[in-house]
Amino acid sequence: MNKIMAANKLKLLQSIIILVVLSFIIIGCSHSKDTALTPIIDTTTSDKTPSVTTDDINALSKDENKMVDANERTSLPPRPTAPKEDCKRIPNTATTGKTSFVSTDKVNPLPADESKNEALPSTVAAEPANKMVFINQDDINSLSTDENKMMNTIEKLTLTMRPIGSKEEKAACADLKLELESYGYQTGVQEFPYIVQSVKLRNIPFTEGKFWDFNISQPDGTSQNLIAVKKPAIPDAKDVIIVSAHYDTTVHTTGAIDNASGVAVLMEVARKTASFPSNIEVRFLLFGGEENYLYGSRYYVNSLSDNERRRIIAAINLDCVGEEGPNLATLGTNNGKENEACKLFADYDIQIDRGAMSDYYSFVKADIPALTVAQYPVLVGTGQELPDDIARIDKAKLKTVADMVAKVLLNTMK
Ligand SMILES: [Zn+2]
Repeated sequence: MNKIMAANKLKLLQSIIILVVLSFIIIGCSHSKDTALTPIIDTTTSDKTPSVTTDDINALSKDENKMVDANERTSLPPRPTAPKEDCKRIPNTATTGKTSFVSTDKVNPLPADESKNEALPSTVAAEPANKMVFINQDDINSLSTDENKMMNTIEKLTLTMRPIGSKEEKAACADLKLELESYGYQTGVQEFPYIVQSVKLRNIPFTEGKFWDFNISQPDGTSQNLIAVKKPAIPDAKDVIIVSAHYDTTVHTTGAIDNASGVAVLMEVARKTASFPSNIEVRFLLFGGEENYLYGSRYYVNSLSDNERRRIIAAINLDCVGEEGPNLATLGTNNGKENEACKLFADYDIQIDRGAMSDYYSFVKADIPALTVAQYPVLVGTGQELPDDIARIDKAKLKTVADMVAKVLLNTMK
């Protein structure tokens, strides 16, 4: 009997123990459900996952605090916490993202706004916005422009004269725009009204002694600047470099040297540098109305705010290059002295002179370091310029200038 009672007591005890154990299990499960809703910073859970290190946990903890702080500041409902694995993966994505960003999106990197992904942790924003070396020096050294392509550009442009406001000037702008887009650039056309007839020989704000205007017979109207942009690969980058050339002519010539040559060099530099990412913003500007007292470039510079002007580290203009004969291209500045823009050409043995009037002067007037790459016209015995004809273009000279400008640009972009 005692044995039976003892056995019954034992059974009762076993049942109680089983009940107690079961209730612990049930309570335990509901507790785990609760913990699944708590923030991901749970060192106990993390300890059970050997792949998570203390550093990872600390990093998560910091990010989580930032998210909470941000939510409090903006009074937004709390953001759902990301699964732990995602949080751990994000820093890695940020590190590798730097490489893939550079290699896959060279010409048109993401606009700054799109790259500010809210889901990315603060480590991305904390990346230094300093210069990163994107361009291999060997690629710069081995760069070689195509003189035949430049000759083709000159040939097309010189089929007509392109005076300010003419349909030929507009058609040239449209053709160049398509070409630049085919290289991968974002482009825009800046139209501007001009007055020739009512201005004539008086009240010109740019005069420093002498008025000049080679298209005085043109009716008043509108002309246009063509703008092609390569955004920097670093969203916070502020510096801008400009390469410019005018594509209009006077009413006396089809302008092979002045200035289809400069346009051809600009287009070839744009083509050869299109695939390289850049630390700075690059703008290729093709000005209309240069032969009317720098109309296009004056309009462009006037359209910039003070802040935008300050961002421009150098403006490099191309006007009259590649004429056959003994004269070589020089760097023209407003006073014949070296300026900050000239310093970009320090690797080249090229003379600095007082520049002939051209679009670089609109930038000079706005205190922007500017120069014009130009060649003094070759003169016949009478002191007269020789005809401005494509037959007088020396394509080897075009290539020398284009190679130099392309390399200077890449060295500034890298
Ligand atoms: Zn010119």
